[in-house]
Amino acid sequence: MSKMKIAIVGLVHPKGLNFLRENDFDVFEIKNFEEENLIKKLEFVDGVLLRTPKLDKNILSNCKNLKIISRHGVGYDNVDLEYINKNKIALGITSTSNAVSVAEHVMSFFIYLMKNLSLSDTLVRSGNFKKKSELPNFFELYEKKVLILGFGRIGKEVAKRCQGFDMKVYVYDPFIKKDLIEKYNCTPIEKKEGLSLADFVTIHLPLNDNTKNFISETELKFMKDNSILVNTSRGGIVNEKSLYEALSKKIIKGAGMDVFETEPPDLKHPFFNLDNILLTPHNAALTLECRERMSLEASQNIFYFLKNKSMLNEDNLVNKDFL
Ligand code: NAD
Repeated sequence: MSKMKIAIVGLVHPKGLNFLRENDFDVFEIKNFEEENLIKKLEFVDGVLLRTPKLDKNILSNCKNLKIISRHGVGYDNVDLEYINKNKIALGITSTSNAVSVAEHVMSFFIYLMKNLSLSDTLVRSGNFKKKSELPNFFELYEKKVLILGFGRIGKEVAKRCQGFDMKVYVYDPFIKKDLIEKYNCTPIEKKEGLSLADFVTIHLPLNDNTKNFISETELKFMKDNSILVNTSRGGIVNEKSLYEALSKKIIKGAGMDVFETEPPDLKHPFFNLDNILLTPHNAALTLECRERMSLEASQNIFYFLKNKSMLNEDNLVNKDFL
């Protein structure tokens, strides 16, 4: 019997690919993500392990054998959900892999933006060690208020780490019971009230029609002028034009952005002219440990779904109701 074919769309740690090969799949990598190439290469695959390239209806409707798309990560806004639900193609995510890595990235943003570490580093390297008292003020996280928008897997890990720094944690997530938020020693709060009191706002929402432009001009105006906004969720949830205005007019103090409306952002992006924003290339989850975990979990989703359903982690199957 011929082996089932699995396409790896995007660069993935070899751990998962080896796992699939050991379990008798025919695995091949795709590095050219142009639509025409994807249509050709995916025509007869049984499964796709997918990083960030977009799989829209045009590509998917040409797949004759596709049974599962397994996302390397937890967001799935790059997949045409309507099409796969209608055609009973499963969608997997790596729900247990990346929350810790993203939460640590958020803490790095907080600390870097409070301590402005690069200024201190430049001072030492330029022989100006003694000018340390001339640096601008930097600040502690201790007893600062943080608002977490979205209290899912990542939001909860961020809360734990903030509590480790003795920060006061507020949560806005109308889909999570207040008791559960309180069980994590956090305070449930409404969006506007939370934005008005927070020193830090960090976003952990999925991108969808309800969350597009979730933070725009109005919300930025609610925020304090010494506050920091961090987005490691998805581009488009923060309106970039409004954020640029808010940062350049000092309506808020600073921001950390891992995700952008268009990725990669244009080299003439207005953010690049600001010195109160820290930018990272959508790599919040890309620690070595996390890349290994995501690669393996995404591959296990394919193996279990196609050959051993009883082993599949149900939380990893996004569209189980449609299958
Ligand atoms: P999750 O599904 O566990 O949690 C999302 C939370 O958002 C849920 O609790 C949900 O109730 C809440 N929510 C949804 N809509 C809301 C709304 N309108 N208002 C308030 N709350 C709302 O997801 P997660 O694993 O915590 O991941 C969150 C997002 O982070 C993902 O969707 C993904 O896009 C992004 N992400 C980014 C990276 C990165 O590399 N930067 C890595 C992993 C995940």
